[in-house]
Amino acid sequence: MIDVEPRIRGTVRKLERVGLTVRAVIPRDLARQYGLDKAEFVEVLSASGGVLLRPFQPGCVLCGGPSEDGVDFRDRRVCRRCVEELLRHVRIPVAASEAEGGFRG
Ligand SMILES: [Zn+2]
Repeated sequence: MIDVEPRIRGTVRKLERVGLTVRAVIPRDLARQYGLDKAEFVEVLSASGGVLLRPFQPGCVLCGGPSEDGVDFRDRRVCRRCVEELLRHVRIPVAASEAEGGFRG
């Protein structure tokens, strides 16, 4: 069940059919309140009992922080800080030939 703020309960908008999709107009006050008026993209998520819209902010999938200096991994953005932290926690096995001095680098 989605929590509905009492002051917005009762807002009814007509849906516009566009092909197989629908389009709805978001009231200005709600758009401003949740930053949709300044967002270029919006995330549309399935939520229990309804649909959740929120401004799309491409941040790090691990910490949510800014990720301009990060990397894309499997279509997800990870910030450099999280990449460095992950690398400190992951032990990469060294092949036998490298351990015996076969590695040149
Ligand atoms: Zn991060």
